[in-house]
Amino acid sequence: MVDCCSAPGLMPFAQALETMLAAISPITEIENITLSEGLGRVLSSDITSPINVPPHNNSAMDGYAFAQDSLVAQRHLRLVGRSMAGQPYQGKCGQGECIRIMTGAKMPEGCDTVEMQENCQVEGENVEFLAPRKKGDHVRYAGEDINQGHVVFAKGRRLSAIDIGVLASLGINDFEVFRKLNVALIATGDELKSLGEPLGEGDIYESNSYALAGMLKNLNVNVIDFGVIADDENAIKTAFIQADEQADAVISSGGVSVGDADYTKLVLEQIGEIAFWKIAMKPGKPFAFGKLPNSLFFGLPGNPVSAMVTADLLALPALMKLQNYQPTPTITLKAKTVTALRKSPGRMDFQRGVLSYDNDGVLLVNSTGSQGSGILTSIASANCYIVLPAEQGRVSAGETVDVRLFERFFS
Ligand code: AMP
Ligand code: MG
Repeated sequence: MVDCCSAPGLMPFAQALETMLAAISPITEIENITLSEGLGRVLSSDITSPINVPPHNNSAMDGYAFAQDSLVAQRHLRLVGRSMAGQPYQGKCGQGECIRIMTGAKMPEGCDTVEMQENCQVEGENVEFLAPRKKGDHVRYAGEDINQGHVVFAKGRRLSAIDIGVLASLGINDFEVFRKLNVALIATGDELKSLGEPLGEGDIYESNSYALAGMLKNLNVNVIDFGVIADDENAIKTAFIQADEQADAVISSGGVSVGDADYTKLVLEQIGEIAFWKIAMKPGKPFAFGKLPNSLFFGLPGNPVSAMVTADLLALPALMKLQNYQPTPTITLKAKTVTALRKSPGRMDFQRGVLSYDNDGVLLVNSTGSQGSGILTSIASANCYIVLPAEQGRVSAGETVDVRLFERFFS
């Protein structure tokens, strides 16, 4: 299926991402939801506005509404009524008249301008306007935020908290989204103990599935946790088959290298179409991608840093495509590295850093220190990747480097 690295050498990161995305067809199943369930869901069709927002011309100030040409020859107008938010003035405001009006209240018929109350002197029914006003001042017009019939959000948008507010302002409570993805997580390794179990000699706590589950929940997919599977061909095969039956995508970690206990490759060649890639990226060289009978498969390296970074940079974009989400392009910034960065040419590095500004407003980046692929705290304290191209060697302090802010799903 996927053209992979049967060729000698490593596959460039960009090529791996592109090849993988090209092999994925987004899901088509949709469901109806109500607004309160909408956060993080992906729209399956454009949403157009059924109304103008705001629905009527209204005042942007607490003050007095009037027809601006009333004030051409005089500075005094007669107060004839009130327009409050939700309780508009019912009559028509004539020449020489004004209406007390509150912020958000509907502009009365006959009025085109509002003066704020601070610029008015009121004595009984007599309102004196202390400053001149241009026609239309302090008026918010119907439809100036959103016009009736216009596309508010396009298909493929992932609804943010603000988007939910916008939809509420349009009175939209029911709409269609793509169904949620189901993603199975499998950790492989004889040395991995689940939380609560005692650690034997040579054991470690299984941590990848927790971090991956967090990233997946941020992406608003359902996580099916298969826990820890031993380094055993049959156990792995059983788990992969069960996961494939239940999930749209299966993500495993560990067992994709070439060690004696790395059965992932063996099993997957039996039950799916899998490409094993050696990607020219660091961390995260070994990575498997392919298709099981019913699902996509991502085989992440076991080292926690490698697992997180390949999940973030490869598996998550793939899942976004699968769920029809079209994210805005990632922004790359230029920053001056405060520390020298160790690097040998060959692979694209995604080192972890902390962005800051110096007193002159120059963007700086500090490495989080040791970048070993087992050192998860190198990500925990970071807010960005320092992206160093494959051919790059060591970087001296003070040089300019590319920096990519962490996505909100990641950290
Ligand atoms: P592997 O890719 O299976 O050779 O694993 C590489 C390294 O990552 C080993 O040190 C494993 O103990 C560690 N590792 C693998 N899976 C996990 C996991 N789920 N949680 C924490 N560490 C892991
Ligand atoms: Mg292992």
